[in-house]
Amino acid sequence: MKPRKQFGRKIGCNRCGRKRGIVRRYGMHLCRQCFREIAFELGFRKYS
Ligand SMILES: [Zn+2]
Repeated sequence: MKPRKQFGRKIGCNRCGRKRGIVRRYGMHLCRQCFREIAFELGFRKYS
């Protein structure tokens, strides 16, 4: 049992666990790639 800092949430992307390029927008915690995919699914497109 190593003493580790525990954050409220995991650090990595909520979807794939990646730690690079995390985007925290709209209450989501995703890497840029997953954010892009999810944003696309949810319709967050600029001037579709
Ligand atoms: Zn991701």
